[in-house]
Amino acid sequence: MHTIIAGNGVSSVTFLKEIKKTLDDVEFDIFSEEVRPFYWRPRLIEILANEATIDEITPYNEEWYKKRNAKLHLSEKIIKLDAKNQIVETSKGSRLKYDVFIFANGSKPFLLPIKGNNLKNVHVLRTYDDVEKIKSHYGKSKKFVIIGGGVLGIEMAAALNRAGEKNISIVEFFPYLLPRQLDKAGAFVLKESLESKYQIRILLGKATSKIIGKDEVEGVEFSDKSSVEADVVIFSTGVRPNVEVAKEAGIQVEKGIVVDEKLRTSAKNVYAIGDVAQHGKVVYGTVEPAVEQAKILAKVLSSENAKYSGSVMSNTLKVAGIELLSIGKIDPDSGKVRFSSQGDSKRGLYKKIVVENGKFVGAITVGVSKKEASNFKKIVQEGQSPTSEISKYVNLEED
Ligand SMILES: Cc1cc2nc3c(=O)[nH]c(=O)nc-3n(C[C@H](O)[C@H](O)[C@H](O)COP(=O)(O)OP(=O)(O)OC[C@H]3O[C@@H](n4cnc5c(N)ncnc54)[C@H](O)[C@@H]3O)c2cc1C
Repeated sequence: MHTIIAGNGVSSVTFLKEIKKTLDDVEFDIFSEEVRPFYWRPRLIEILANEATIDEITPYNEEWYKKRNAKLHLSEKIIKLDAKNQIVETSKGSRLKYDVFIFANGSKPFLLPIKGNNLKNVHVLRTYDDVEKIKSHYGKSKKFVIIGGGVLGIEMAAALNRAGEKNISIVEFFPYLLPRQLDKAGAFVLKESLESKYQIRILLGKATSKIIGKDEVEGVEFSDKSSVEADVVIFSTGVRPNVEVAKEAGIQVEKGIVVDEKLRTSAKNVYAIGDVAQHGKVVYGTVEPAVEQAKILAKVLSSENAKYSGSVMSNTLKVAGIELLSIGKIDPDSGKVRFSSQGDSKRGLYKKIVVENGKFVGAITVGVSKKEASNFKKIVQEGQSPTSEISKYVNLEED
């Protein structure tokens, strides 16, 4: 049996590891757009911070692939898929027949469609090559502006600072950081902590309208016509699944390549896993779901009875060394809800717990110990009611 995989990220290598546990008579051809074999993508942040090297985050050598009957084709993309005849075409002109084809080709950064987004010194961060480009500006007193105050934008800013850069700004469209995970008061504490810990400037409520410059970046302009100076701009404004090949092949695509509970696409013998896949209405874009999908697919293709029914998104997060918890109903909008919140921006601490109908239904913590955060998590997950034991945390008030 011949299986072809597009992509050599975490979903691809996890699948390869797992399938060999149960199946030995499969030959794999893995095509990767990148010039080097699999590396741990999230650990690119450590390289950006000068805390790791590419070798340290590259776990598998040629031998590892060989042992798994896999041939790795680097710098060679899948450019076309003929689903009817089960043939793919690569960027180097090869045409290969497959029995099974797997899209594991991830996503790419999304650039705001604004003037100047193609100027010199505008960057994104997705691959090791991107890291090298950003690092080429180190030590030259450059002004870095990161557009996007999500988890990745914050991580990047902290990494630049740890690498010795002193002039770093984050620009966020929303009026506070991490609006999906935090409320205003919690986000304020996070902002204060980041600014004091890493000397990062954070500009909130700013809609970027233009990158200023002739050939090279000179600044960033906002819709309110204010601007900041910049020598380097890094977009961290989300990702989009790499769906082009599937779309052209007539495979069902919405935000990502649509898959069912067996990770099947709409084409026979074609599957999709990881950042490129859409299950239900969800494209996850994180490592855990990619790994879960890869493991399930390995079982499906080994004729085991396995089903993917979606992943549970983790509610704990570590951003630039600061622990966060965000669980359940965090921003109560009904008058029947009571909540307690306690913030100490000097110490970088914030805790909030929400009660509805006599039960804990949501919580946020910023900067507290892992142990205390997990206490909050537990009482929400168990739907506990305010008792004397827990009252040490809370002094409930009407919202
Ligand atoms: C800097 C950074 C930090 C991150 N930190 C975290 C984190 O802390 N936690 C977390 O959960 N997630 C994190 N993520 C997201 C995480 O890396 C992705 O969710 C994960 O890598 C997805 O794996 P994947 O296998 O689906 O795709 P990818 O890792 O994107 O791999 C897909 C590969 O396919 C290649 N490719 C694309 N098109 C083709 C084609 N046509 N033919 C052949 N090859 C192709 C791509 O070049 C790429 O190498 C981070 C991402 C980045 C960039």
